[in-house]
Amino acid sequence: MEVIVMSKNIDWDNLGFGYVETDYRYLTTYKDGKWDEGGLITDANVVLNECAGVFQYAQTVFEGLKAYYTKDGHIVCFRPDLNAVRLNQSCERLVMPTLPEGRFLEAVKEVVKANKDFVPPYGHGASLYIRPYMMGTNSVIGVKPADEYQFRVFTTPVGPYFKGGAKPIKIRITDFDRAAPHGTGHIKAGLNYAMSLYAITDAHEKGYAENMYLDAATRTYVEETGGANFIFITKDGKLVTPKSDSILPSITRRSLMYVAEHYLGMTVENRPVHKDELKDFAEIGLCGTAAVISPVGQIDTPEGTINVPAGMDDMGPITKKLYDTLLGIQHGEIEAPEGWVVKIC
Ligand SMILES: *Cc1c(COP(=O)(O)O)cnc(C)c1O
Repeated sequence: MEVIVMSKNIDWDNLGFGYVETDYRYLTTYKDGKWDEGGLITDANVVLNECAGVFQYAQTVFEGLKAYYTKDGHIVCFRPDLNAVRLNQSCERLVMPTLPEGRFLEAVKEVVKANKDFVPPYGHGASLYIRPYMMGTNSVIGVKPADEYQFRVFTTPVGPYFKGGAKPIKIRITDFDRAAPHGTGHIKAGLNYAMSLYAITDAHEKGYAENMYLDAATRTYVEETGGANFIFITKDGKLVTPKSDSILPSITRRSLMYVAEHYLGMTVENRPVHKDELKDFAEIGLCGTAAVISPVGQIDTPEGTINVPAGMDDMGPITKKLYDTLLGIQHGEIEAPEGWVVKIC
């Protein structure tokens, strides 16, 4: 079967991880206690009152997922149902209305189809990043949730997160607190990110790619970075992931745990990870939608530098196996568990 891909005139091989405006975005409005029918629009700008809840009390949440071509010419996305569930968990925490799961999936499909020509062709390591988000839109000056909301989805084509392959990065344990005043566990919201901007800027200035946050109460257990969960490989080949109520439940991390157990026959442990254990792991990585896995080669801690045995040149062998297997599943080269790869068109 010959597949004709009508892609935009974009230099797919040199696309970075940035924003490129596409033709369509999705909008549905919540008013008088219900969502309207919603649909596609073309204007990329959002015009709101100066007193909108999103501006004054940061009432906004978001999600992130990718659409991409499989080898046989379909556009698919990866486990979007989990993004729909997580969006609603974030909404509940910020006292925003939830969106029926079916409507989330419908909106994602509709906006990807409409921007089909921006989906990078197969084989460039690029994808169409999808950004669903919701915000309070009516004026609120007393501290309270808004009554009106917009749920929107825009897309932007992105290149591979790491050009020329995933090189191990150097990170540090940070003493900065990323938590907003009332705690931000389990939600994907702009305020988590705003609270981590100071720490990440400081890290970059000092030569680190990321911060490792420890638990806020005791500064003893490993949490996550500003935007990715951790995975650890022990010297006897187990996958260990930190268990904590204040980290974001990464879909990539949950998928890797499944892949490790069911595809690679590894033992998987989801448990608290003490910072003193860090020196004993054979391989360390960060995981999230954007990069899938980025290997960590070095960690600076208050007690000294930890050189991860996997080194600073390449991904460790088990990390690589996890990475290749998950990528193979996402791209239709390895059979996926039921429901993981969702066809858009
Ligand atoms: C998005 C995000 C992750 C990664 O989650 P995925 O679902 O794998 O993309 C991890 N931590 C934080 C704080 C995030 O915002």
